[in-house]
Amino acid sequence: MKLFDTLSRRKREFTPLEGNTVRMYTCGPSVYAYSHIGNFRTYLFEDVLVKYLKYKGYRVKRVMNITDVEDKAIVAARKERVSLGKLEGAKIKEFFSDWDALGMERPSVVARASEHVPQMLKLIDRICENGYCRENGDGVYFDVRRFRGYGELKHLKRPRYFGKAKGDDYAREGLWDFRLWKKWGRSDGPVKWKSRFGEGRPGWHIECSAMAMHYLGESFDIHCGGSDNVYPHHENEIAQSEAATGKALANFWIHSRHLTIGKRKMSKRTGNVLYVKQLNKMGIKPRCLRFYLISKRYRSPLDFTKKKFVGEICRCKDAEVIMSRLERLAKGRKVGGAGKRGTRIARKLLREFEGAMDNDLDTGLAFRRIFREIKVAKVLLEEGKLGPVDAREIVDAMDKIDGVLGVLRTK
Ligand SMILES: [Zn+2]
Repeated sequence: MKLFDTLSRRKREFTPLEGNTVRMYTCGPSVYAYSHIGNFRTYLFEDVLVKYLKYKGYRVKRVMNITDVEDKAIVAARKERVSLGKLEGAKIKEFFSDWDALGMERPSVVARASEHVPQMLKLIDRICENGYCRENGDGVYFDVRRFRGYGELKHLKRPRYFGKAKGDDYAREGLWDFRLWKKWGRSDGPVKWKSRFGEGRPGWHIECSAMAMHYLGESFDIHCGGSDNVYPHHENEIAQSEAATGKALANFWIHSRHLTIGKRKMSKRTGNVLYVKQLNKMGIKPRCLRFYLISKRYRSPLDFTKKKFVGEICRCKDAEVIMSRLERLAKGRKVGGAGKRGTRIARKLLREFEGAMDNDLDTGLAFRRIFREIKVAKVLLEEGKLGPVDAREIVDAMDKIDGVLGVLRTK
């Protein structure tokens, strides 16, 4: 199985670093706002990846964080005049109700940043002991110029040095010293922890490195996220983790591409966002949305318009109808059929599905092949050339495939 690694910029053969268990870290939601369907494109790709790894016989330990200590959440809580905990409790509940509706498997560990501050402080200490820290009046910063190889993930070419980054996030290309620890300021309100640097709170990037290492070890198999996580977030994760341990944090860095809407990036900042529940009210069921969001490979462009959506969804609906006809035939009283035709179709379905998925999770190709085979089955069905044994074989193969894709079979 090959996967595209953002760091080395090539498809590489995947095997776990140790034994049969894949250790995987996926960046989770910031809970200052609701997650939109663009965010869910990333989580869905990760869900398909987890399920396909399991299909291949691996065990998967997936850790996902919830960023509940950050600038935007603190600002939002103040604006809405509620406590940070209350604001986030409601948003997290909402997030997982969409998550479940989209048929996604929950991660093995969901880690909240606010509950892992001691681990983050320990990691900051290691980074500082190795000489990568710079402390000043408002915080402790990672000195990026000391870390050779900074910018490799993003492919920064001759970057300029801009000094320290003000917030947890920054957009311009360049070198920015980022915050490991923010010293308490009045705007933080009650959000603070004790540390040897004084009271304060961790920076956003250190959260993920500390929690990933805590649950998965200093080096693990796969680190995933959306392409907007590449820089600065993952670039900084690499720098600070390797500065502490001297080891590569992850063997594979995998990023999904943005979902666009009318060719523009769907983002909370521009406001052109769509939500799972909003679409559900418009008659678009979460399972159809799941299909749409994985109907193209995770690295391919995907642009949402209602027209394209309806067109795509028809293919899925047709397949579903044929599958239930096959199911009825398989369960019916009619006997006979040696099953040769069914076996042939079932084998081809599995072989072609695996071929597409082994090539860097090409779900687009997998669906095209599946729909083609289902059409073949439909013609044979209409000509009366399939018996119950044939139907059973095809249905069983589809069940196996749909254990990964989760869109073609209603159960
Ligand atoms: Zn992260």
